Amino acid sequence: MPLGYAAITERAPVIAYLGLGANLGDPVRQLSEALERLNAAEEVEVTRVSAFYRNPPLGPPDQPWYVNAAARVRTRLGPEELLRLLQQVEAALGRVRGEHWGPRRLDLDLLLYNGEVIFAPNLVVPHPEMHRRGFVLVPLAEIAPQAWHPVLGKSAGDLLAELNPADRAAVQPLAAD
Ligand code: ATP
Ligand code: CA
Ligand code: CA
Ligand code: CA
Repeated sequence: MPLGYAAITERAPVIAYLGLGANLGDPVRQLSEALERLNAAEEVEVTRVSAFYRNPPLGPPDQPWYVNAAARVRTRLGPEELLRLLQQVEAALGRVRGEHWGPRRLDLDLLLYNGEVIFAPNLVVPHPEMHRRGFVLVPLAEIAPQAWHPVLGKSAGDLLAELNPADRAAVQPLAAD
């Protein structure tokens, strides 16, 4: 392809939504640094960030509480490239791959990408558990109640409204200090 075509074939920016979580170390700091690093990436702009919420851990008991948030990004990265960036940021901030659902310093999930449905071996979008999780839906509906789940045909606000009230109530804004 002639060089001059690069500008024309460059991907147009799209909107994606991310879920952030941490329950080891200093979760608020890790989430904040993750957002800074994502925004620092050339092809990513973090355009909206939810409040930080605390919620009880999922999976093995006796873990510290999680801190969770959601973010909206505008990006030229494809979904697989964006996932790789999320994994790089997790690694840079010291996540050690361990037990599934075990404690971690940082977990970055790709929730929604440009209204697309993706079933790849290493990437499923929309994130397959997002509609069942208060700690995802509460922050996501805060920043983007209209964000569309293309498989369920419902918005984030609709999904939150349908969530079990106890799961929803378990997710509390972090007290400001
Ligand atoms: P869960 O996916 O239930 O929230 P988890 O976040 O603890 O669990 P991880 O250990 O962080 O799971 O990731 C396991 C694998 O999930 C990753 O290696 C990644 O390839 C894959 N994966 C599939 N879909 C997604 C997605 N939408 N966002 C992030 N990772 C995904
Ligand atoms: Ca940037
Ligand atoms: Ca996760
Ligand atoms: Ca993950």
